[in-house]
Amino acid sequence: MSLASDIRRTAQLLRPERWRYVAGITCLAGVNIADVVAPLFLAIAVELAEADLVGSSPATPPPLALLGLDATMFGIFAAVGVYLGLQLLANVLRYPMLMWTAVPSHRITQGVRRSLAAKLLSQSQTFYDRSKSGDLMSIATADINAIRMMLGPAILVGADTLLLISLVLLVMFLLSWKLALVALIPLPVIYIVTNKLSHMEYEGFEAVQSDLADMTERVRESYAGIRIIQGYAREAFDRARFHEFSLRHYTKNLVLARVRAAFDPTLDFMLGISNILVLVFGGIWVASGEIAVGTFVAFLFLIRYLAGPMIGLGWTISLIQRGRASLGRLRRLLEEPVEIFDAADAVAVDASGRIEIRDLDFAYRSTEGGHDEELQGGLHVPALTVEPGQTLGVFGPVGAGKSTLARLLTRMYEPPRGTVFLDGVDVRDITLDSLRSQIVLAPQETFLFSSTVERNVALALDDVPPRDEIERYAKLAHLHDEVFDFDAGYETMLGERGVNLSGGQRQRLAIARAIAADPRVLILDDCLSAVDAETEAAILASLREVFTGRTGIIVSHRVRAVRDCDTIVVIEDGHLTAVGDHDALMRGGGYYAQIAAQQRGEDADVDDAAEAS
Ligand code: ATP
Repeated sequence: MSLASDIRRTAQLLRPERWRYVAGITCLAGVNIADVVAPLFLAIAVELAEADLVGSSPATPPPLALLGLDATMFGIFAAVGVYLGLQLLANVLRYPMLMWTAVPSHRITQGVRRSLAAKLLSQSQTFYDRSKSGDLMSIATADINAIRMMLGPAILVGADTLLLISLVLLVMFLLSWKLALVALIPLPVIYIVTNKLSHMEYEGFEAVQSDLADMTERVRESYAGIRIIQGYAREAFDRARFHEFSLRHYTKNLVLARVRAAFDPTLDFMLGISNILVLVFGGIWVASGEIAVGTFVAFLFLIRYLAGPMIGLGWTISLIQRGRASLGRLRRLLEEPVEIFDAADAVAVDASGRIEIRDLDFAYRSTEGGHDEELQGGLHVPALTVEPGQTLGVFGPVGAGKSTLARLLTRMYEPPRGTVFLDGVDVRDITLDSLRSQIVLAPQETFLFSSTVERNVALALDDVPPRDEIERYAKLAHLHDEVFDFDAGYETMLGERGVNLSGGQRQRLAIARAIAADPRVLILDDCLSAVDAETEAAILASLREVFTGRTGIIVSHRVRAVRDCDTIVVIEDGHLTAVGDHDALMRGGGYYAQIAAQQRGEDADVDDAAEAS
């Protein structure tokens, strides 16, 4: 990424806080000037005292005599007073200086975090299919921190350094412009070397950050899959793999540390050369009487004064290069287009729940690495209508495309225009908020948030409704009895920081959550696969009540789950192969009838076993 575009972007970030920075840098200038000027007054005091000792003190004006002071005493007190005043001023200004440079950097990065969160929340499923969470996590933490270091400490130290260097150079030029030019001979070399090193720092840091993202992803995966890893006794393998990642990360960090370590000695070396040049040329010019000895000595001191700011400059450049690399990573993420969004003339609908599909031809696509390619697996539905209040069963083998249908109805994936309609309106013309409050999908795999049972059930609602209402949803999903047995009942914490539910309990919580959302169209995607036959039958019975007055869609590969639906569609290998009610499909003798016969046998075995016990 070019430096010019980075500067432009950084300036955009800084713009809202520019006055704070101006105030902070003004305070910084005040601190520096006070620091430099204060010792002069101490020198004046010493000079006055010395003059008094040798008896050449100035005459005392009458008003001072009236106060009982002589000119020397007054001068000394005044000089010491100014010295103390300047010291006080410098120390008082240090606070606003730090605040006005540190606070804006925190405010800006807070804003950046907010836009990042908004962006991530608006991204569609396809974005998450191709993104690694480790990447997103390290951008949100390590990269944003590197950006803050660039906008805070780097600006402060950078301004401080430049100010000091300018002051020293100004004094040098005022003393002798010729010797000043000699001292600056190594400057082009300093420029070339720092440029090279800072480029290496940029590349190195980008490599380290993207590697950190890989490692974060690795760690996240290991934690998320810890049960599987332990279950298959793959700890040693996982440890070795992690070791490999961490070794690679260490090596990349080492390269970066080498670049960083090369900065200060290189700058120091260049200053050394400058020193030698001043010694040689200064010596010659002093000998020839061209410059005074005092000027020559002052130069040697001034060059030493440059050492501190030069090191500050190296550190600043390093922070800026790291910030730039992180800004690039953040920018790429923020500039990812949002694929599923509200059309300009999108409307909110208050639907009755009529679903219609016409000539739907959908394929998953991969946009990995800029290539747009069609993947295997998709869905083709020539025509399908579900009237409001009706129930639809979606039946088919694993991987046939049943969940795809559910995801297209809610625009988790974007259906082509003119193919999916809710109440006659193309779903692509409905605002996402309105669509997803009207059509709710309880997915195959649910997620528990680190919160209470009731908060998890009331996810779609702004406020947790009264307990009896929550209980009603839980009872409809046949979850109530188990929650009742938990120590803290509906206030039991779930998720990472709390109790983890069984597969069947999770599924029932997903159903209760979907019921609580009170949608016009309720889709249950294979939500009964982890519950026993008895509970499944009980839930199916209460679903009749749940589905009253709304359109219900049950996705399953079990005949039991869909047999009572008004209409059942059979999907095989991405194609709709049969439509009808249970009886019609049984008569049709196709895949549905075949599986029904097979599952009837299995169910009979289960029933026999239950009876025998
Ligand atoms: P199951 O009963 O096992 O859940 P399903 O009938 O619901 O299966 P889908 O999840 O709709 O099947 O998947 C249909 C096909 O689409 C499969 O071949 C699957 O590999 C593919 N597929 C699903 N999701 C994606 C995705 N996000 N990206 C690419 N391909 C996908």
